[in-house]
Amino acid sequence: MTKDSSSSEQARELAALYFRQQSLFEDEIYLPAPPEVKRLRVLRGALTPLPQTLAEFEEQIHDCTRCSLGKTRTKFVFGAGNPNAEIVFVGEAPGRDEDLQGIPFVGRAGKLLDQLLTEIGFSRDDIYICNVLKCRPPKNRDPEATEIEICKPYLLTQLSIMRPKIIVCLGRFAVQVLLGVKDSMKSMRGRMFPWEGAQVLVTYHTAYYLRNPNGISFGQEDFAMLRRLYDDMKQAW
Ligand code: SF4
Repeated sequence: MTKDSSSSEQARELAALYFRQQSLFEDEIYLPAPPEVKRLRVLRGALTPLPQTLAEFEEQIHDCTRCSLGKTRTKFVFGAGNPNAEIVFVGEAPGRDEDLQGIPFVGRAGKLLDQLLTEIGFSRDDIYICNVLKCRPPKNRDPEATEIEICKPYLLTQLSIMRPKIIVCLGRFAVQVLLGVKDSMKSMRGRMFPWEGAQVLVTYHTAYYLRNPNGISFGQEDFAMLRRLYDDMKQAW
């Protein structure tokens, strides 16, 4: 790579990072750690390092009220599981139980997730799980487009901190946010897509199987695919 192409690549990465972070912290711009970048006084306001850990990031955003869900939630639901996991599950939004406990996937859909994980030899300690939205929509309604747009940078930042090898999209909202497509879940499930250096596997949200118990074989197939993908990738790590 020539010096010019290297510089333009860095500029593109910096610009992409800025636009991703822009809606997160308003007048502050968050950048990764390189000292030469830290010294820059650019754009608006003070320069603050990108959070290095999930715990640090949760501390920064746990009081968020940037959309109206911040006023109606009981608890903010950041995410849970192994912060060093190579596999991250992304769901939709907290439900009633999650809102009460502040932990994702603790209700009936969460128990089904545990069951599917157990069937492929995984537990919650092997994965990390979070949602597109960190606060419960009233009466478990679907997330609204504006709520997703406002909250999306939080998910992207979680993923940029973790840099998982595999991301499992549970349901259409995770698919829309990460892959930017609105195709039917019927056409998307069981398929893999490259995303920012990771493999994204699409499957139904486990709540789907509570409504359609006969469809659980889809989940079992997709989780078996996840296990194979993980085992194959692990050989190359
Ligand atoms: S849903 Fe997201 S953007 Fe809205 S208040 Fe909760 S954390 Fe903030």
